[in-house]
Amino acid sequence: MSRASIPVIDPVELTRDLIRIPSVTPADEGAMDVLERRLTALGFTCRRLTFEGPGGTGDHARIENLYARRGTAGPNLCFAGHTDVVPTGPAEQWSSQPFEAEVRDGVLYGRGAVDMKGGIAAWVAAVSRVLAEGEADDAALGGSLSFLITGDEEGPALHGTKRVVETLAAEGEVIDACVVGEPSSSQHLGDMIKVGRRGSLNSWITVHGKQGHVAYPERAANPAPVIARLMTRLNDHVLDDGYEGFPPRTWRSPPSTSAIRRPTSSRPRRARG
Ligand SMILES: [Zn+2]
Repeated sequence: MSRASIPVIDPVELTRDLIRIPSVTPADEGAMDVLERRLTALGFTCRRLTFEGPGGTGDHARIENLYARRGTAGPNLCFAGHTDVVPTGPAEQWSSQPFEAEVRDGVLYGRGAVDMKGGIAAWVAAVSRVLAEGEADDAALGGSLSFLITGDEEGPALHGTKRVVETLAAEGEVIDACVVGEPSSSQHLGDMIKVGRRGSLNSWITVHGKQGHVAYPERAANPAPVIARLMTRLNDHVLDDGYEGFPPRTWRSPPSTSAIRRPTSSRPRRARG
């Protein structure tokens, strides 16, 4: 592919094209097609990996993924991202419609503008510029560039990056380094690059009580205050102090603690959080 035939991509235009597609997890609605077209024009070999789980619905709905690579030599520098977005909530509470991608006073508004259609578009645009400015052949590039884009990051994340990586690894595909396009700026663009990623440990705690009438509390055991104290202790527990460049790990209770209630005059029999 000659240098002259490399299209230079405008990051704002590509971001707007992507935002205008309502790809709320697990829906793709053509978002991967937009990227595939652009990357193919830049000389990438694109491959779609579509996965789903048992039943093909809910957490196991069909998911579109894209792996695109330009060049065959190593090292292979990969950009990892996702085209799915979280739901908009009430659209009337937005200052502009979430999928219109309106630009006002030099700011682009829309669902996914930051997380992370904007990040994908910026990288695609940067790659197009590098290629057009003279690194268009593999030898000059000194390796390969690739994209691993999933449509299942904001949801259950069962049939996205993890399955793509497993598939590629089984085939012997090597990714030497990876840049994740998640937004990390704190005050202004580019002021922070994250050098790590926290993991997670998820668990359920069930506290059993003894059901009884509220008029006779001495005959009942209410599990709600027990689990409340437990949550407080866990939230106050210091896991570590972090280190320069990465914040401390934290323990976070779920957004809500559910108490399974009997009639309102009764104590709950158990609480779960
Ligand atoms: Zn994200």
